[in-house]
Amino acid sequence: MNNTNVKLAKSSGFCSGVKNAVEQVFEISNTLKAQGIHQTAVLGNLIHNKLVLSRLDQQNIKTINCANEIIESGIKNVFIRTHGESAATLKKLQEAGLTIYDLTCPYVKKIHEMVRAASQANKIVIVIGDKQHPETIGIIGQIEKTPSFVATTLADLPDIEKQINNLHRKTGQEAQIFVVSQTTFSKADFKKISANLKKVAKTVEIFNTICYTTSVRQNEALEISKNSDVIFVLGDTLSSNTIKLYEICKAHCKNTYLIENTKHLADVLENFKLDGTNLNGVHSTTNRKNTSAKLKIGVVASASTPQSLIDSVLKHLQGKTV
Ligand code: SF4
Repeated sequence: MNNTNVKLAKSSGFCSGVKNAVEQVFEISNTLKAQGIHQTAVLGNLIHNKLVLSRLDQQNIKTINCANEIIESGIKNVFIRTHGESAATLKKLQEAGLTIYDLTCPYVKKIHEMVRAASQANKIVIVIGDKQHPETIGIIGQIEKTPSFVATTLADLPDIEKQINNLHRKTGQEAQIFVVSQTTFSKADFKKISANLKKVAKTVEIFNTICYTTSVRQNEALEISKNSDVIFVLGDTLSSNTIKLYEICKAHCKNTYLIENTKHLADVLENFKLDGTNLNGVHSTTNRKNTSAKLKIGVVASASTPQSLIDSVLKHLQGKTV
């Protein structure tokens, strides 16, 4: 008897930006190979997923984390990933004579345009996002004319406010603040930080540039985790949006597991004895009142999770009995 009920979140797997980038990289590299160019490079991880990165490597599409290293390697064709790059990095690659295939997601490009225009209009730009995230670095790297700041937590605000006040004192001009967010930042944190930023200056323009894909996925993860006994979050520990989904699910369903590959899933299932013989592990750690009811398994996959992993996990789970 199959007494599990497996539900996959509606928006699972590659988002439009990642899907386009992955398809384009393989397509362009095949075209280049046909022209006798056998090696290309991506500046940084194309996506935060080890399964995809190893496929790229097998195709001689090298992941190189530093623009200088690409230039020194002699590789002449370089892909820019969905996160985008700073204006200075693109200039450096161009000046070194490389051909650039810019796969920056259109949503990220839009943010680049917004902050460039804001800076041209003498506005101070604040990005709400992770300081070390390549997308945040790329956004900040568009701003040449005015100061810019990154706010990751509320704890960053006093220092930002102090620096803005110092600038105000120095220039005598009232600061105009322009706020955007990293596309994959947490909605709840953006709301908190932006509400507090309103107090930093008289003129504060706030644009929520969190990608719809990210918020839809976070909402779906929340819903599914409230109604599941076990949750498998499919994705890579390298991926910040996978980690966010994991955190949301874990807060509502204690049996939440981050699954990177099918071997990992098999280990977790083995632990649960989801093999038709045993209820150990699952029911003892959930509050299910009716243990004869079907065990509800939720599956959530991030925007950088390949369809092949989703398919094989579903295949593994479907028909499983407890
Ligand atoms: S999450 Fe959104 S912004 Fe980021 S690559 Fe995907 S579609 Fe683009």
